[in-house]
Amino acid sequence: MTELKDVKGVGPKALSLLNKLNIYTIEDLVTHYPFRYDILERNDLSLIEDGEKIVIDGKVESVPILMRFKAGLNKMNFRLVTQSGIVGVSIFNRAFLKNQLIVGTGITVIGKLDKTKNVITASDIKLGVLTNKVKIEPVYHCTSGLSNKSLSTYINMALLTCGREIADYIPHEYVEKYNFLNKKTALNIIHNPSTSEKLKEVRIRLKYEELFAFMFKINYLKEQNKKENNGLKREIDREKLTKFIESIPFELTTDQKTAVDEIINDLESSTRMNRLLQGDVGSGKTIVAFIGMIANCLCGYQSALMAPTEILAMQHYLNLQQLLTKKMNIKVALLTGSTPKKERQEIYEGLKDGSINIVIGTHALIQDEVSYHNLGLVITDEQHRFGVHQRANLQNKGIKPDVLYMSATPIPRTYALTIFGDMDVSTIKQRPKGRQKIDTFVKKNSEIKEALEMMYEELKQKHQIYVIAPLIEDNENSDLTNVYKLKDQMELAFKNHAKIDIVHGKMASGAKDLIMEKFKNNEVQILISTTVVEVGVDVANATMMVIFDADRFGLSTLHQLRGRVGRGSAKSKCILISDSDAERLKIMEKEDDGFVISEEDFKLRGHGDLFGTKQSGDMSFKIANIRSDYKILLQAKKDSLEYLLNKDTDDDLLKKKLITSITEA
Ligand code: ADP
Ligand code: MG
Repeated sequence: MTELKDVKGVGPKALSLLNKLNIYTIEDLVTHYPFRYDILERNDLSLIEDGEKIVIDGKVESVPILMRFKAGLNKMNFRLVTQSGIVGVSIFNRAFLKNQLIVGTGITVIGKLDKTKNVITASDIKLGVLTNKVKIEPVYHCTSGLSNKSLSTYINMALLTCGREIADYIPHEYVEKYNFLNKKTALNIIHNPSTSEKLKEVRIRLKYEELFAFMFKINYLKEQNKKENNGLKREIDREKLTKFIESIPFELTTDQKTAVDEIINDLESSTRMNRLLQGDVGSGKTIVAFIGMIANCLCGYQSALMAPTEILAMQHYLNLQQLLTKKMNIKVALLTGSTPKKERQEIYEGLKDGSINIVIGTHALIQDEVSYHNLGLVITDEQHRFGVHQRANLQNKGIKPDVLYMSATPIPRTYALTIFGDMDVSTIKQRPKGRQKIDTFVKKNSEIKEALEMMYEELKQKHQIYVIAPLIEDNENSDLTNVYKLKDQMELAFKNHAKIDIVHGKMASGAKDLIMEKFKNNEVQILISTTVVEVGVDVANATMMVIFDADRFGLSTLHQLRGRVGRGSAKSKCILISDSDAERLKIMEKEDDGFVISEEDFKLRGHGDLFGTKQSGDMSFKIANIRSDYKILLQAKKDSLEYLLNKDTDDDLLKKKLITSITEA
């Protein structure tokens, strides 16, 4: 297989820039699809109104005159002969094009037409005339230093030299059935479309392919579950379990009780549990998970709870410790990436000999070195952050344990049934008693003073505040707010009223935990952060959430962030600061039901943010969108199941490849 660095023109510098875009292989490169297309349609000078946009091709008629200004700015003027007459062209800051704009050269000019002066102020000039009346230009996600043009060049070079090596994930019988183009041709067209009809056709093909591979994996896991119907059959000591539930300092909601019953039933049945527990932020999923783990331990089996971050793992660990009494004789351990070596070794041993009953941790729980005495139940928190691979990996540990996934990202039911087709679903809709609606306000940057005043009111009442910014550091390509800049601003406003600190995703986890701990203990009153607090942290005295550049986030993420406050009995508030996208953000002012919000987000953005951003694992599609391509998804689901169950294709290399990609992490 040809490597990325072997593509002509890709040197070490380009390689690292491509890596920045998450492109590591040839396959990544050629499936770096355009996120939109610019359609260039040749216009006629006489048909364009004054001040309107124009795209026109022609030949350079006069030698460009270059003018240089202060600060490195420059401007070039020349005349262009077109089919509909001669027109002046002026363009800023393209001095580098001067040598190419030789008289007689064919070019395409994009810009605005000033009819009275008969001049186009060009925003772009492309060398070459339009071969067809219409030209469709792919636009890619780029990164600083790597232009759209060079990306396009690399992609086409890769397609030219190793297009045949690129795997097609659609079995040939379905390629034939739907009369699909072959993969190489399809890729060629998506990157260089000649007509929008052709483009539409190959987009469907590539979407189908992506969804086929995805649904194949889901179907495989489902069939595997059915086949290995060798779940643990347990007899749960209901009396002891009830005692534990009664010792919890609050009463479970009806939905929580139902979810507990469903889980207990699964544990007692000989069918292996494979369940998704979904519920809005703050709906109380954790306690349900704890009860499941205790029930499992009462039968003599080990339980593991895997959280997406160390902070969360720690929080779960401390919370569970508090609920357990000595008499229950249940030993709990915390295992994360930063557990010291000696302690880690002890935990490994305890898990192996069974002296540890419950282990709570991060990815550290699924490392190869970890082996369990009799792991009976595995729970993962914030399920959408783990990919299909990791799911399979966890399931393969120990004796076939029962599996429960928790997710705070409510997914509309129809979609959940398809995407999580391999799972049963429990849903918590109610909120614990006494929770109040979180008052939410959308404010412009010019109204920042009002936001600061509201913050001051909270501080006066001895409450704490979260402040969120999208970036960590200054980024020359962006004027988004970053946490360090915000800290300076907050210091200026509240230096005498609050202790302010920062926590973000790039900090060492020890440092992060320390600051979270301080916030928990109210030694810090304003916590500035990136979205790392999104997942699960619980500080009841925090009553205000302020989110800068709120338009950068999906509604589901905003809802999750907002769910960090309103955990105690005091009224809580959320301020969303943004100068754009007000209409979408206003939904947050009205709505506080995560399911409705997720449904709205779905309508507005497709699945986009629904499964979190980059970390979304198996849920991030490159071209498909589970909402707008739902029909294709259903077809791909049906076909991939048929393919999976068809014994005649068991020797297919593709089938084997798809299966290994699931079982091997
Ligand atoms: P999430 O579903 O977001 O994981 P948590 O499990 O963290 O929510 O619960 C949020 C908070 O609500 C926790 O402090 C928890 O102790 C509390 N809680 C959970 N269930 C109830 C209940 N039935 N009554 C009162 N408080 C509850
Ligand atoms: Mg939680």
